[in-house]
Amino acid sequence: MAPHVAVIGAGIIGLSTAVLAQEKIPGLQVTIISEHFSPHTTGDGSAGLWMPYCLKDTPQNKILRWSSKTYDHILKLWKSNEAGDVGISLIPVYKLTEKSGGEDMEQPEWTKVPLAHHIINSHQAQKLASLSDSKFTGGTHCISFTLEPTYFLPYLMQKFKVNGGKVLHQKVESLQQFCGQNYDVVINCTGVQAHNLVGDKSVQPVRGQVLRVS
Ligand SMILES: Cc1cc2nc3c(=O)[nH]c(=O)nc-3n(C[C@H](O)[C@H](O)[C@H](O)COP(=O)(O)OP(=O)(O)OC[C@H]3O[C@@H](n4cnc5c(N)ncnc54)[C@H](O)[C@@H]3O)c2cc1C
Repeated sequence: MAPHVAVIGAGIIGLSTAVLAQEKIPGLQVTIISEHFSPHTTGDGSAGLWMPYCLKDTPQNKILRWSSKTYDHILKLWKSNEAGDVGISLIPVYKLTEKSGGEDMEQPEWTKVPLAHHIINSHQAQKLASLSDSKFTGGTHCISFTLEPTYFLPYLMQKFKVNGGKVLHQKVESLQQFCGQNYDVVINCTGVQAHNLVGDKSVQPVRGQVLRVS
């Protein structure tokens, strides 16, 4: 009999994990168990922008590996016929500063990943500043993508179901409840809720603001 996997959580991580498991191991039985679904997950309120930030002391090699895999995956989707359904847009991203020495902004390893990444010199910064009455001294510019989660999450769910995945709408109170059940592997994709489910107090919300301006 094919192995049976339970994925707890239907956010971007749960859905991506579930679909990837189906694609990697044909015939695998996968069940998503989740309290909430799109449009009520964290990702539904996010911008879906590719750009590593708030990295603290994450090792550079991990940031490079994870960010390049993600970028390459998005690039492949963007070039496919599904780009519209998935909600992908290629966008220029400007990161500007008003601090002195803005032309010398740090260039971490991940800046090698996008299709383009450039330093914005003080002359260009002044031009950009004149558009918004700011005092930018410099910054960086890169080519990135937004993968609009309100499109991407339903797309992944649809793919999961077409691949034969099952969905259970329920809250998991404890991982102990899986003991004696018919699952070979249980994957915890509860995001920030892992704080409660497995008592991992190091998992905390960091930041999140999205503003759409004219
Ligand atoms: C305003 C804002 C803007 C952001 N912008 C960006 C951005 O531009 N780019 C970017 O990369 N990231 C961004 N982020 C971060 C990104 O949205 C999150 O990192 C991501 O959505 C987390 O996904 P997740 O699947 O891990 O968690 P979640 O989306 O929180 O999903 C967790 C899932 O687990 C389920 N669950 C939890 N506990 C249980 C339980 N006990 N039993 C059953 N089910 C359970 C939930 O119901 C949910 O379905 C932003 C975040 C915010 C808040």
